[in-house]
Amino acid sequence: MSRSLLSVAQQRLERALPYVSLSADAAERLKRPKRSVTVAIPVRMDNGDLKVFPGYRVRYDDTRGPAKGGIRYHPEVSLDEVETLAFWMTFKCAALDLPFGGAKGGITVDPKDLSRFELERLSRGYIDAIADFIGPDIDIPAPDVYTNQMIMGWMMDQYNIIRRQITPAVITGKPLTMGGSLGRETATAMGTFFLLEAMRPKLSRLPEQPTVAIQGFGNAGSILAELLFNAGYKVVAVSDSRGAIYSKRGLDIPSVKQFKECTRELKAVYCAGSVCHIVEHDTLTNEELLTLEVDILIPAALENQITETNAANVKAPVVFEVANGPITPAADEILEGNGIHVFPDILANAGGVTVSYFEWVQNRTGLYWTLDEVNARLKRKMVEEGENIRALAQEHAISLRTAAYAHALTRIGDAMNAKGAKQYYVEAR
Ligand code: GLU
Repeated sequence: MSRSLLSVAQQRLERALPYVSLSADAAERLKRPKRSVTVAIPVRMDNGDLKVFPGYRVRYDDTRGPAKGGIRYHPEVSLDEVETLAFWMTFKCAALDLPFGGAKGGITVDPKDLSRFELERLSRGYIDAIADFIGPDIDIPAPDVYTNQMIMGWMMDQYNIIRRQITPAVITGKPLTMGGSLGRETATAMGTFFLLEAMRPKLSRLPEQPTVAIQGFGNAGSILAELLFNAGYKVVAVSDSRGAIYSKRGLDIPSVKQFKECTRELKAVYCAGSVCHIVEHDTLTNEELLTLEVDILIPAALENQITETNAANVKAPVVFEVANGPITPAADEILEGNGIHVFPDILANAGGVTVSYFEWVQNRTGLYWTLDEVNARLKRKMVEEGENIRALAQEHAISLRTAAYAHALTRIGDAMNAKGAKQYYVEAR
């Protein structure tokens, strides 16, 4: 029988255990998600048919605060996947010291098959189904793969209708006009960029102009590609779900982005105004992109991309995990053995949830920050916690991932113990 995604993900926790003094109580609590709901979402389709979509919301742990995490729309979404993503969110929020636990939601659907109207009905139907399970002090959703600001806006509106009150802090990643935060759209990519720039002087194997390959051209991947391009990195390859484009001389990312936004097609182009020309390039598979000879590899698509079958072929000395879970635990060991530095997802992509936290704070105080303020606070968090994790990794000669888990586990364990651990009762006797 194949192992569940969750039990595979939990291997990361096990690897970090020798480096923290976690109480037996805390370890026991972390074995299972606190609460999970599975719902059926009936949607009237444009042709009059009724279709029922399966949906999920999982609260893995909320010892450190209300649970936090995005909502994913994808044909592969399952309860096991959502539980795993909620587990990662628990550690991500703790690693960044955000006052949140971890959650995740999802609907098993291919959003590309739906019209705008169907998508809206599905999104509102999902909130109808989970409204009792979420709330600004309980569990706060946000965007994830194939969900966006527009969807968060519909969801918040639906929650307001159900509750008969305006509750912006129930969801983050909303449109600005509905209480969203400046800088939330770009936050995941910005967070990775700040972390990379801060770590760059310490990564001795990076040349003056590093070459970069990015798998995934969604919100995080495409914005990060542009930030890196503007900062002088040479982005040689990017991909979407259909495949990759590669140019040794580097891609003109603003042109590629403009073309993709207009046509939905990923092409190596150079645009002058609205006129775009195809430039010389190779096309690759997503699989080939991962093994390119580049200085920095950025998987920014989905989980389980680098596995024990292809890890040995990864040539980049530095990897930033912008997707959640793109590298399996078995692949970790191979990469580590080959001296590859992996900046783990729970740190490298934490910019998104960090600015979600800022959005929630702004909603609750009613005081809204400037973009500079948001980005300055984001930078401080990413650099500070990145440094803490790097120092811990150095101290124990362990991978950045194990250090990130140990760092997060200490915070989660302390919070759990504060509620009363076995030791407390034994000592009190
Ligand atoms: N979906 C994002 C993540 O995986 C953001 C979650 C949030 O903002 O709550 O980190």
